[in-house]
Amino acid sequence: MSTILENLTFKGGVHIPENKDLTSSKAIERAREPKTVYIPLQQHVGAPCEAIVKVGDNVKVGQKIGDSKAGLTAPVHSSVSGVVKSIKKMHTTQGIKCDCIEIESDGLNELDESIGVKGDLTNLSKEDIVNKIREAGIVGLGGAGFPTHSKLTSAADSNIDSFILNGAECEPYLTCDHRIMIEEPEKVIFGLEVFMKYFDNCAGYIAIEDNKKDAIDILSKASNDKNIKIASLKTKFPQGESYRIVDSVLKRVVPQGGRCKDANSVVTNINTAYAVAEVIQDSKPLYERVITVTGSGIKEPKNLLVKIGSTIGEIIEQCGGFKGKPGKIIAGGPMTGIAQYTLDAPIVKEVSGIVVFTEEEVKIDKVQPCIKCGKCIEVCPVFLEPLYISAYSLVGNMEMAEKYDALACVSCGSCSYACPSKRPLKESINHAQNEIKSNRKKS
Ligand code: SF4
Ligand code: SF4
Repeated sequence: MSTILENLTFKGGVHIPENKDLTSSKAIERAREPKTVYIPLQQHVGAPCEAIVKVGDNVKVGQKIGDSKAGLTAPVHSSVSGVVKSIKKMHTTQGIKCDCIEIESDGLNELDESIGVKGDLTNLSKEDIVNKIREAGIVGLGGAGFPTHSKLTSAADSNIDSFILNGAECEPYLTCDHRIMIEEPEKVIFGLEVFMKYFDNCAGYIAIEDNKKDAIDILSKASNDKNIKIASLKTKFPQGESYRIVDSVLKRVVPQGGRCKDANSVVTNINTAYAVAEVIQDSKPLYERVITVTGSGIKEPKNLLVKIGSTIGEIIEQCGGFKGKPGKIIAGGPMTGIAQYTLDAPIVKEVSGIVVFTEEEVKIDKVQPCIKCGKCIEVCPVFLEPLYISAYSLVGNMEMAEKYDALACVSCGSCSYACPSKRPLKESINHAQNEIKSNRKKS
């Protein structure tokens, strides 16, 4: 049984109504087999893939259909067996437009021959681990989409002494990480052990917010490894942001502009560890994942195991369809997710949920002048002054926005949530970030 470290937290942040009870007790169900999937060639941070199949080709489940020679990338795989019908540009749930491979399913779910080959972690070298993770197309499944093999190799020389699995799931409404932890604890622990082995048997932590007591209990009982500890975190947003996790669990500060590896640690999501366990144990690449479909605008909220490339509309239909008139559909959580405008967008690897709000619930508050109350400063976990960055961004003074550390913002949205004047803080700061980065590229 693993030790539980209690009451860990960070400075700043906000308490948000959790609304997780819609799905937190609902076991993961497998979604119906989609008739057609659209596999985006860009589902990750880094270079897009190029198609390695052509129209008319027959493909199997788990077959690699896109890859790139670039250093920072991750291959993509078919999630159904069937025929490639087209390769066309589509908007994805990430809010980008990219080439997507349309595959009509034959309904047979025929697996690629490579899937199911049993693996043994004890016999794998570091290089084997990285290669397997890369070939399986695994990326950060908490929403970041950073290729996992690159995360490992880029931290390989940083004296990593702690690997943290992020099971905070601090976004309201979402429960897919929670369900994975209580339904698949052995696989989660195995995934962590793969990472710990890669970093020379470093310490392992599973960090979970204390609104998920059952997961804390189950994982501490499931682990016999003395080198693994369960970190119980006080429930507060954005506890799941990786630098806040490092701060809460290890009491280390990731330097501004730095990475977790600069604090001798690596953080990855629970679902990613689960995916890593599946590739090491069963040679299964990432072609499906668990997501939460929820919100006041969904008739039957669920946790569903969905094939990547299924459309939002098809998944919502399997949850009984809309309840009332939809006012907003978000891919991801309501704080950091991306609003959708088409039900035809295919689900990509890093989408952890679909949250639908009814029209009545979606209020567009009137923006009022800043009253200098300081609430945005109080809640900012990065200790920024959002009111000034936002003000400079709104008048187009990016030089000053940069001086006020716009680039350090982690886009958590806590400032916008806390602002009584309903000012578009996060949005204007994100705009400044984009402008500053694009100006740097030009110069
Ligand atoms: S400024 Fe950025 S990091 Fe700070 S609270 Fe606002 S969105 Fe979060
Ligand atoms: S929270 Fe809103 S009103 Fe208060 S200081 Fe910040 S921007 Fe101004």
